[in-house]
Amino acid sequence: MYNIDLSDKTALVFGVANQRSIAHHIARFLHQAGANIVLAYQNDRVRNNVEKAASELGDATLVECDVSDDTNVEKAFAEIKQKAKTIDVVIHSIAFANREDLGGDFAETPREGFRLALDISAYSLIPITKYAKPLMQDGGSIMTMTFQASERVFPGYNVMGTAKAALEHEVRQLAFELGPENIRVNALSAGPLDTLSSRVISGYIDMKTAHREKSPLQRNITHEEVAKTALYLASDLSSGVTGEILHVDTGYHIIGF
Ligand code: NAD
Repeated sequence: MYNIDLSDKTALVFGVANQRSIAHHIARFLHQAGANIVLAYQNDRVRNNVEKAASELGDATLVECDVSDDTNVEKAFAEIKQKAKTIDVVIHSIAFANREDLGGDFAETPREGFRLALDISAYSLIPITKYAKPLMQDGGSIMTMTFQASERVFPGYNVMGTAKAALEHEVRQLAFELGPENIRVNALSAGPLDTLSSRVISGYIDMKTAHREKSPLQRNITHEEVAKTALYLASDLSSGVTGEILHVDTGYHIIGF
């Protein structure tokens, strides 16, 4: 569809739960550009949906990987190494927080809810990068998904804003560290999109309306637009870009009032 050729590349994609997942759309665009796709999915709960997604992705390879457990991540990467040998692109599109911590008073966030949200949504990029690095012998591109709540207050986003701030810092730190290996690390900061995760954020509908009414492009972003930007970051077109937080939000982030 676009003139980008990833036919000699393998992309490892974390975060497909169903066909609305941002990761699913990114995997679709990478596959259309010719990439071989490996889908790392959370657990049996999402397996059926992931199998459906895989069938549209040239029978992508499936690997189970729950990032809350170190041995699980290590085991998953041993399997990935065996099945894919090398990887060129990594998509980290994972987040989780308890529903009760995505609304109400941020000051009431319990320690365990904070730990869980930061563990799954931010820390997980670190072990994924650690195990992916030796498989990225020819350099490559790692990207994660963030949201502007890392830098501005979005009521209801609460602890996930803290997690995204940590995640964006990791992007810069890892970009610095992996630069000599020619591995680029970037984040896509997407506007609101209807998915399993976004629906549980209290105030999500208002957030979507504000984006539509106030952004320079006067509409909401689409899954496809985020996926297109991921395709750019996965490809040689972005060879000079690393450590970047790239907003794909119809321009909402520039608006002050
Ligand atoms: P989604 O629910 O489809 O994806 C979240 C994924 O995280 C799921 O596939 C889930 O299985 C995975 N996950 C959760 N806990 C996990 C664990 N322990 N181990 C492995 N995987 C685990 O929702 P989405 O909106 O596609 O979210 C993907 C990313 O995009 C998230 O980081 C989210 O914060 C970010 N994001 C979403 C929006 C939006 O409006 N939807 C906007 C900006 C950023």
